[in-house]
Amino acid sequence: MTAGYPKRKVGPMTLKSPLLLAFCCGLALLAAGCKKDEPAPEFAWQIDQFADLRVLRYQVPGFEALTPKQKELVYYLSEAALCGRDIIFDENYKHNIKILRTLDAIVQGYKGDRHDPRWAAFMTYAKRVWFSNGIHHHYSNDKFAPGFDADYFAALVKGSEGVTFPLAEGQAADDLVAFLKPLLFDPAVAAKKFTQDSTQDLVVNSAVNFYEGVTQAEVEAYYKSVVDEKDETPISYGLNTRVVKKDGRIVEEVAKIDGLYGPAIAKIVSWLEKAAGVAENDHQGKVIEALIAYYQTGDLEKFDAYNVLWVQDTASLIDFVNGFIEVYNDPMGMKASWESVVNYKDLAATKRADAISGSAQWFEDNSPVDPRFKKKEVKGVSAKVITAAMLGGDCYPSTPIGINLPNANWIRKNHGSKSVTIENITYAYDQSSLKSPFGQEFTFSAELLERAKTYGPHAGNIHTDLHEVLGHGSGQLLPGVADEALKNYSSPIEESRADLFALYYIMDDKMLELGLLPHADAAKAEYDLQIRNGLMTQLTRIQPGKTVEQAHMRGRAMVSHWVYEKGKPENVISRVTKDGKTYFVVNDYPKLRRLYGQLLAEVQRITSEGDYEAAKALIETYGVQVDQELHKEVLERYAKLNLAPYAGFVNPVLTPVVADGRIVDVKIDLTEGYVEQMLRYGRDYAFLK
Ligand code: ZN
Repeated sequence: MTAGYPKRKVGPMTLKSPLLLAFCCGLALLAAGCKKDEPAPEFAWQIDQFADLRVLRYQVPGFEALTPKQKELVYYLSEAALCGRDIIFDENYKHNIKILRTLDAIVQGYKGDRHDPRWAAFMTYAKRVWFSNGIHHHYSNDKFAPGFDADYFAALVKGSEGVTFPLAEGQAADDLVAFLKPLLFDPAVAAKKFTQDSTQDLVVNSAVNFYEGVTQAEVEAYYKSVVDEKDETPISYGLNTRVVKKDGRIVEEVAKIDGLYGPAIAKIVSWLEKAAGVAENDHQGKVIEALIAYYQTGDLEKFDAYNVLWVQDTASLIDFVNGFIEVYNDPMGMKASWESVVNYKDLAATKRADAISGSAQWFEDNSPVDPRFKKKEVKGVSAKVITAAMLGGDCYPSTPIGINLPNANWIRKNHGSKSVTIENITYAYDQSSLKSPFGQEFTFSAELLERAKTYGPHAGNIHTDLHEVLGHGSGQLLPGVADEALKNYSSPIEESRADLFALYYIMDDKMLELGLLPHADAAKAEYDLQIRNGLMTQLTRIQPGKTVEQAHMRGRAMVSHWVYEKGKPENVISRVTKDGKTYFVVNDYPKLRRLYGQLLAEVQRITSEGDYEAAKALIETYGVQVDQELHKEVLERYAKLNLAPYAGFVNPVLTPVVADGRIVDVKIDLTEGYVEQMLRYGRDYAFLK
């Protein structure tokens, strides 16, 4: 039982680089081509780069057009989003807050030489901790090593003036340094945020702060004793708790207003109360009140009640996520990380998703899949496109670009779910990558590069919509086939199925007919990119000597290698070497589409019949192995580009305009720097110790 990869949330786990966005579950390739309002050219999307990270800004189009009351609501929800910052730090590791406060104090108070190269190394470390909400890499989960030594760290603490260090009662600065040294500098201490190595005790060997003083066996025994397996509407056991041993007994500390994380939750609740007062409609008011009731008690039945109300709220323009939501930081897959996203509907882009979902039955009926495996009746698929206005907790600075909630299966089944794509975030990724040398390095010709620039972003969006809105929901299992029949191959097979559905249809005339693509060349640009990625460029994310492991990447590799091999007799795709560099070039698009269709039919058959052996053969043959020579070449070419593979975002600054004691407007400002923002958050949203 491990957390594995998030299935429902498309996001930080998979976002590696703007150009690689394309290759993750349901990710917009290079999104938002349909946005006509180009920002002023001088808008700097990227504002910082360090280690393997880039920091970008996102724009918030349409904010000015909200009514004053709507802006006020966004403002309150945004404050509630920021008030949980300490929670995610503490969840990620029990000493993260102390480390954070120490780093913040040094950054603000150090009076020594800031031109010393060690200072630059220290700043890089501080920026990484801010970025990851703790001392472990947000993606690899490994503790990162400071680029300076412990003596320098001690000197920094000693040389800082006019700031407060997080000293315990009677503690001297030297004691603090002695306490923190092993946490920062000893690679063996808290080495991994969480481990997925099931030969080890997953609980004991994970640094996450969901458990204290208990073993995996104790945790499993405890939950076995409390879980009611007959309950058809079960609560999400353990979602908002920390399991500890008290007087030899296993107990759960519950996150609530007067419990675990109480001071931060109290602040969140106070902002939610204000938000409830300016809700857009009665139903939304009830949603917010239900969330407050849950935070006041920590009662997970109340959390479910909130989720049911939340999923039914489709009328409001403004929406939000706020709470203990995703469980993939817990090696046991139960405990949720705190996160928040405040957003409003992007009406124009939502029309695009509607055009696709409105034709869902047509797509199902016309797919190349055996009729036995098709859905006779495609249920209402709802999807909306949103604009993020504030990111918090585990969604900041590294953020998802799509969310599908709630997670409780019985709520999804009985009440549905909300699926969103966050367009202004993908747009920021795209814009920041336009000048990236990545495309030029790996695209065969100037002509193809030009086509990719013209149509790539738009086509990428449509691919995402097709993958998310239709692909995952298409097809059906034969009676008696279990959901988990494909076991460890189910995720890569499922992702390849959704991709193949998208790839097959993106080149269909229906796209032009529905007005979804401007030109048939757009689909070709998408094919170029998918082939290049699956056969070559996604190798930039794999360490030398390793094989493809991540589910989405396996799916992409399998699809591309399969069509490449099967198309060889007719030279559908060729491998070309130019100036010693390898490229993959598509020669025949209609034939490639036919191959995608054939593979879609086969992958659907495997899924519908639960054919484990066939799934295994497909993935192992085409999706796992890496051509070592090509891998080496790709890594060398990529290294020369000096790109940071992971990106995150700073938030806008929202400032209320008050007249006669009331908020009459909210101003939005996008100019705050990364260090500035982190220090401000550290000052204004520090509620826990
Ligand atoms: Zn997907």
